[in-house]
Amino acid sequence: MNLIHYKSELLSFLEERKKSRKIVGLVPTMGTLHQGHLSLIEKAKENCDLVVVSIFVNPTQFDNPSDLENYPKNLKEDVEILNHHFKNIIIFAPHTREIYGDHLKSEHFDFEELASKMEGKSRQGHFDGVGTILKKLFNLIQPDKAFFGKKDYQQLMIVKKLVNILEQPIEIVGCPISRERNGLARSSRNKRLSKSEREKATLLYKNLKMAQENFKKKPFDYIINKVKADFEKEINMSLDYFEIADSQTLTSKRVFEQGKKYRAFIAARVGKVRLIDNMALN
Ligand code: AMP
Repeated sequence: MNLIHYKSELLSFLEERKKSRKIVGLVPTMGTLHQGHLSLIEKAKENCDLVVVSIFVNPTQFDNPSDLENYPKNLKEDVEILNHHFKNIIIFAPHTREIYGDHLKSEHFDFEELASKMEGKSRQGHFDGVGTILKKLFNLIQPDKAFFGKKDYQQLMIVKKLVNILEQPIEIVGCPISRERNGLARSSRNKRLSKSEREKATLLYKNLKMAQENFKKKPFDYIINKVKADFEKEINMSLDYFEIADSQTLTSKRVFEQGKKYRAFIAARVGKVRLIDNMALN
C-alpha cells in the first residue's frame, strides 16, 4: 500500500512501473469510501496491473459552499479500508493546493447537450469542475483505463465525451450501481442521513423500480406524474427532478421509440442531503 500526497512522488513511482509496460488503471473518488467504490477498485484490479485510487474532494465541482463544507471527509478511515481490502494499490490523496496551486478555477468544456440537463441544470458549473479535475488526473497519471460508477450515469457519459475532447486514449469503464439491501444506492452522502431519513431515502429506488415495472405498459406521463405525487405526499423530502431519457443522448423523452434504450433519472432532497439515482428501463 502506497499513500502518496505529492504529484512528483506519484510520477516517479509510476515512471518505474510504466517502463515495464504495466496497464495502469485509475479509480477517481472523493473518499468516504463504501462498497460502491470498492466494487470499482475490484474491477480495476481485475483489468489492470497497477491501480491508482485518487481521493480528493474537488472544490470546483461544488456549486454550493455549504455542500462542500459538509461533504464527509475521512482520509484515515479510507486508508484503513483500502489497506484491509487490497494489496498493491496506490492511493493518491493530494491537498487542494497541490492540484490547483493558487488558481482554484474550472476550465470550460464543450460537453454540448450532455451537460445542460439534470445535474448540469441543478448544479451550475458542476461538470466543468468534474472535467477540470479529471483532465488534471488524466494528464498526470496517463492511465490506460479509468473506472466510473453508473450511479453517476450522466457523469460517466460526460467523462466518455471528455476523453474524446482531450483526444486521450483512455478506456472509460462503466461499473454497476452498488445498492444496500433495501435498494438505496450507496453514496458517501448517505452518512449524513439519520436512521429515519435513510429509510425514507429508499423512495428514490422504489420509484425507479415502479418506472421500470410500468415501462412500456403505461405512458411516460403516467409514470412521471406518479413519481411527483409520491414525493408531494412526503414531508422533509422534495423531488428535484425525475426524467425518462434516452440512455445515450440523455435527452428527456415522453414517448417510447422502438430500438432505443431508456433510463430513468432521479434527484431528491432528503432532509438536508441531496441524493441521485438512476436505472435502466429496457
Ligand atoms: P464519488 O466518491 O462519489 O465521487 O464517487 C467516485 C466513483 O465511485 C464515481 O465513479 C461514482 O460513480 C462511483 N460510485 C459512487 N457510488 C457508487 C455506487 N453506489 N455504485 C457504483 N459506483 C459508485
